[in-house]
Amino acid sequence: MNETAQALLRQLPAIDELLRDERGAALCAGHGRELTTQVLREVVGAAREHLLATGAAASQLAPAVLLAAAHHRLVALATCSPRRVFNLTGTVLHTNLGRAPLPAAAIEAVTAAAGACDLEYDVDGGRRGDRDAHVEDWIRRLTGAEAATVVNNNAAAVLLLLNTFARAKDVLVSRGELVEIGGAFRVPDVMARAGAKLVEVGTTNRTHRADFEQAIGPRTALLMKVHTSNYAIHGFTAAVPAAELAALAHAHGLPFVVDLGSGTLLDLTRFGLPHEPTVAEAIAAGADLVTFSGDKLLGGPQAGIIAGKAALVQRLKRNPMKRALRIDKLTLAALGAVLRLQGDPERARRELPTLRLLTRAADDILAAARRVLPAVVAAVAATADVEIVACASQIGSGALPVDLLASHALRLVPRTAGSQAPARLASAFRALPVPVIGRIADGALLFDLRCLDDEETFLRQLEHLRVRGARR
Ligand SMILES: *Cc1c(COP(=O)(O)O)cnc(C)c1O
Repeated sequence: MNETAQALLRQLPAIDELLRDERGAALCAGHGRELTTQVLREVVGAAREHLLATGAAASQLAPAVLLAAAHHRLVALATCSPRRVFNLTGTVLHTNLGRAPLPAAAIEAVTAAAGACDLEYDVDGGRRGDRDAHVEDWIRRLTGAEAATVVNNNAAAVLLLLNTFARAKDVLVSRGELVEIGGAFRVPDVMARAGAKLVEVGTTNRTHRADFEQAIGPRTALLMKVHTSNYAIHGFTAAVPAAELAALAHAHGLPFVVDLGSGTLLDLTRFGLPHEPTVAEAIAAGADLVTFSGDKLLGGPQAGIIAGKAALVQRLKRNPMKRALRIDKLTLAALGAVLRLQGDPERARRELPTLRLLTRAADDILAAARRVLPAVVAAVAATADVEIVACASQIGSGALPVDLLASHALRLVPRTAGSQAPARLASAFRALPVPVIGRIADGALLFDLRCLDDEETFLRQLEHLRVRGARR
C-alpha cells in the first residue's frame, strides 16, 4: 500500500462519528439504529475496498457521501418488494412480471383469509377439514373430473404425479413433446427428479399409435401427453390424438395423463380468441389425470391443479411429497375466487383481468394510445419522437405461441444517435415511481398499451421522468 492510500484510509470516518452526525441520527430515527449501523459498516467497508483497489479520491470518503450512500441502501431495504409495475411489454402473461393479474374478488379473498381462517377445519362439523375442499367442488364442476387436488405450481403437479405413479418405472412420452418451458421446467429433468424413467416414443415431428404400442412393456407406469404450449411444429407432422392414447393406455390397464400447461377452463373461442385445449376436453378424451397452472390462462394465482379420477387423486394426496408441495392459504383463497368467477363466463370476461386484457379490442387500445400520447410527447420532450403504431401482443407463458393479438403501441424513437439511446430511454421509464416496462425493437422503445389499465397513475407520474444525458 502506498503512502497516499494510507493517508486516505485514515481519513475514512469512524462509524460512531457517522452515527453522531445529524444526518446519521436522522437515518437511525427512520430506520432503526441497528440496521443503520450495519449499513454504514457496509458502506464504509466498500469505500475502503474501493480505495485499496483503485485509489479513490478523498472526496468519495467524505461523511456526506458515505451517509448519502447509506441512505440510498436503507431506502431500498425499506421499499415494499415485489412492487407494482406497468407491463407494457406486449406479453400479457409475462412470467417475469408476475403472470396473471388477480381480479378484485381474489384480492378480497386473500385479505379475508390472511388472519385465522378455516384452512383445514370443517366449521359446520367442528372437526379437521381438507385443504383441497375449498376448491375441489368448483374444479369438478368446471372440468367434469371426479376429483382434484392443488399444489404450489404446475411443475410441482407434474413432479407429484410422476413420483406417485411412476417412481422407478417407465413413462412413455412422444419425442415431439419433450419441451422446455420458460423458467427452466424441462420435462426430462422433472421426470428424472421424480424418479421416473423417460421413454421417448416416435420422432420429433411424427409419432404414431404403433410407436406407443411397441414401447409399452412390463415396466411401463403410464402414458403421458405434454401440451407443447410454447412452440409449434409445422409441415410433415403427426401426433396421436388424446382419445386414441387414452384408449391404448386403458387397453393395457395403464393410466393416461396429460400435462396441459396453460390449461383453460373456459372455451376461449366464445370470446373471439384462438382455441386452446380446455381441461374438460382432455378429461372427456379419456385423460385419467390432467395437470395445469393457476396463473396462466386461468387468470389466477401461482398454483398447480391436478384433476381426474378419484382413486388416483386419493393416491396423490397420500404421497408425503404432497405435504412439501402444498398450496398456502392466501393462494388457495385467490384460486377459489377465480374459480367462482369462471362459473359465470360473461362475468369472468368482465372481471377477470387476464380475460379482459386478452379480449381488449384493438380500437379500444388505439383510443387509449391517443389519450396518453400528448402527455408522453411532453414528458420525453426533445429526447425522442413519439408515434402510435399498430403492433401484435402475445398471450405469453407459453400459451398459444403462434396466435398474436392485434394491438397498438407508442413507439419512442430517440433523437440522439447511438445504440444505447433506446436503453437509456427505457431506463428512465423504469425509474418512475411505478416502473414502466416496455420492449426495445429496431432502435426504438415500444409500449404496447394492451395492459395499460390505470391511465391516471401512468399519466400522473410522467412528471418524474428524467432521461439521462438529455437536455431539458
Ligand atoms: C407452464 C408449463 C409448466 C410449468 O407450469 P408452472 O405453473 O409454471 O410451474 C409445465 N408444463 C407445461 C406444458 C407448461 O406449459
